[in-house]
Amino acid sequence: MNVKLFLDDLRVRFPNEPEYLQAVEEVVTSIADVYDTYPVFERYNLLERLCIPDRVIMFRVSWVDDNGKVRNNMGYRVQHNNAIGPYKGGIRFHSSVNLSILKFLAFEQTFKNSLTTLAMGGAKGGSDFSPRGKSDMEVMRFCQAFVNELWRQIGPDTDVPAGDIGVGGREVGYMYGWYKKMTREFTGTFTGKGLDFGGSLIRPEATGYGNVYFLLNMLATRGISLEGKKVAVSGSGNVALYTAQKLLSLGAKVVSFSDSDGSIVIPEGVSQEQFDEIFEIKTLYRGRVSEFAERHPDTCTYYRRERPWRHVACDIAMPSATQNELDGDDARALLQAGCFAVSEGANMPSTPEAVDEFQKARILYAPGKAANAGGVSVSGLEMAQNSQKIRWTAEDVDCRLRDIMADIHSQCVEYGKEDGGYVDYVRGANTAAFLKVARAMIAQGIM
Ligand code: NDP
Repeated sequence: MNVKLFLDDLRVRFPNEPEYLQAVEEVVTSIADVYDTYPVFERYNLLERLCIPDRVIMFRVSWVDDNGKVRNNMGYRVQHNNAIGPYKGGIRFHSSVNLSILKFLAFEQTFKNSLTTLAMGGAKGGSDFSPRGKSDMEVMRFCQAFVNELWRQIGPDTDVPAGDIGVGGREVGYMYGWYKKMTREFTGTFTGKGLDFGGSLIRPEATGYGNVYFLLNMLATRGISLEGKKVAVSGSGNVALYTAQKLLSLGAKVVSFSDSDGSIVIPEGVSQEQFDEIFEIKTLYRGRVSEFAERHPDTCTYYRRERPWRHVACDIAMPSATQNELDGDDARALLQAGCFAVSEGANMPSTPEAVDEFQKARILYAPGKAANAGGVSVSGLEMAQNSQKIRWTAEDVDCRLRDIMADIHSQCVEYGKEDGGYVDYVRGANTAAFLKVARAMIAQGIM
């Protein structure tokens, strides 16, 4: 396969989709060798079929705000690939959402879901609607209008959406409620549902906890303990908070958080009490991290409109906010400060230049599609519980989550271990995920 020609062709066909092209380039570059090992892949033109989504659904969402004004947003669902299971992936509500971002996320999701060992294909959806600053009633009306367009395209064995940035339990509840009204069926079509109506225990915690479990597996390969290590976390949403919660429970020190307005750095790490305060600010009344800095000027510094990476001294970084939030300069600053492990909670948070820096420095570096797969894994477990109409205990789900993260780590090591013993987790994750989906696509024929 000529990687350059392949990517040039995609650039011409999709010129305005930089995030999508970035994600495809990373995968294609790292699987080129294994692709060429099996001539059948090229005969089936497999790579092109795997990179271009099965279908994209785009629609207008019209809704009425609290002042009676009619507002219009764009809605999308990218159904990328269902070779190994029904389409599965979150919904993102954020003003930055566009087709390129959702295509990159759906593409990544296909590989991530393949790694989980569960039967799930890849999808992603969302809208440029931002819940921030909207009333509950506005969010509800928007969610209902969104699902009014989408409900025919999804179903428990067709496509199962979940949360992502801007979509938590409240939004999933409103969307699921409208879906149920339209279909008159109580099925597990959404995951991340409330515990009272089919949600799985540990689902809110799963992405953050799963990332910490993955990190523990990586650290074990070098005989390093997590206890006492300083960990820089970005974001302060679902993934960041549960990452920090698990880190604290295991004796690590969490030295930063952020949101889209800025970052807070707590050089000695937050105490449990301080973490509970941040948790309350973010979850109870959807506040900003700057509020915490205002209350604790002696122990915490606020950096307005800045990311934490150049301001923290840390051993480990766990970017958990959004894509491309850690660039080459940030990576160099982290390495300079002694950071020896990066485990991504967000999807594609490190730019290609940053990834290059981490890999050149031979530190432990885990891409999001492996490290943050715990969320969708427990979503898969939620689907299993819903179809059996039973609920597993928190201990049971947590135990399965640990096993799945250990399994994903083993797959990365199996396919990413180099001669000197260094594990290229990017190549390992991409290769393991690709081979499973590719084999399924070939077995099912050209369609
Ligand atoms: P949330 O909406 O709960 O939190 C997102 C956090 O990131 C918020 O603190 C938000 O700040 C911040 N943020 C969002 N956009 C930007 C931006 N452009 N610049 C700086 N900060 C930003 O989302 P999640 O925690 O669920 O998701 C975080 C990441 O993890 C995303 O990349 C998501 O795709 C990924 N992920 C999530 C999973 C899940 O289960 N939820 C599963 C796997 C991956 P603010 O409050 O100011 O908007």
